Amino acid sequence: MESTTKNLIEIVKAETSKINQVDFDNLAFGNVFSDHMLVCDYKNGVWETPKIIPYGPLSLEPSAKIFHYGQSIFEGMKAYKDANGTTWLFRPLDNHKRLNISAKRMAIPEFPEAFFMEGLKTLLRLDREWIPRTTGSSMYIRPFIFASGKGFHASPADEYKFIIALAPSGAYFSGKVKVLIEQHYSRSANGGVGYAKTGGNYAGQFHPTQLAVEKGYNQVIWTDDNTHEYIEEAGAMNIFVRIGDTLITGPTSDRILDGITRKSVLEIAKDEGIPTEVRKITVTEVVEAAKNKTLKEMFGTGTAAVISPIATFGHKDRDYDLPELTDSYASLFKKRITDIQYNRAEDKFGWRFKI
Ligand SMILES: *Cc1c(COP(=O)(O)O)cnc(C)c1O
Repeated sequence: MESTTKNLIEIVKAETSKINQVDFDNLAFGNVFSDHMLVCDYKNGVWETPKIIPYGPLSLEPSAKIFHYGQSIFEGMKAYKDANGTTWLFRPLDNHKRLNISAKRMAIPEFPEAFFMEGLKTLLRLDREWIPRTTGSSMYIRPFIFASGKGFHASPADEYKFIIALAPSGAYFSGKVKVLIEQHYSRSANGGVGYAKTGGNYAGQFHPTQLAVEKGYNQVIWTDDNTHEYIEEAGAMNIFVRIGDTLITGPTSDRILDGITRKSVLEIAKDEGIPTEVRKITVTEVVEAAKNKTLKEMFGTGTAAVISPIATFGHKDRDYDLPELTDSYASLFKKRITDIQYNRAEDKFGWRFKI
């Protein structure tokens, strides 16, 4: 294997590329991986020099604490290729900041910004041919950290691994999304870990989501754990509602994740002069607005789908359909964000980051 050192990162190249086995016109989401991954180990109290190696399985101790105590965090971001073949990221420093917010909550050592940014650049440049060019497609980027240190003692591990894996992914078509407003289960609690992108938050959603799917819904709308009267998140996305012409989203808290797409939508809404309220949303007002036809839109926001419009919501054995608008806020926000991401429009907010 050829081995070179570029900047501060050592690169061990894959002997052969798998790129010819991939059908770039029919990519799903997150199930094909590029030739390389970046790995950085935390040992003896320091993050060691990151390495880029061929993508492949890992070898771990059965007592590694990730398996027993779930010490793991992740980020989700994307790289976009513009018409000239230049690669761009969207607000990557915000992902780095949030990774360390999650790290702190899960007692994982914070990861240095220079390794994160240099790692992304070096890996994306090496596997640049893997970044799809088809419209709507992008490179989904998954940086994550988990406890690789051994021992059955329920305490933070002494060793960790940071990895970045790349998954060329197709456009995320969610179709007509039908959601159920949850009245029993919760995804987060006051003082809990809801604001962290940590594995268990998602595992804990699978069972309630399966029950909702059995009833014919695609996703659960999470409500507060105490009264189930406040709307908080849409699956693993933030949620917005439009009542009349007013756009409303809940305030972030220790129960609600601080989404980068959410805050981008809020900034674009301000720029567009759309009346916006960041405040608690009650289930009662959404049901009332659906009944008196002032509820015009509900949509989720997140890196994977950007904007995911909701067609129907269920609440206490009744379904409410939302109107199909030709001039929806959802399509306006999606266009403005993706135009910046793919370098099709001016970036007055300074969100694009060139690789
Ligand atoms: C990742 C995530 C979001 C969306 O965050 P983005 O930064 O917009 O991708 C929202 N809610 C939850 C629970 C998430 O995990």
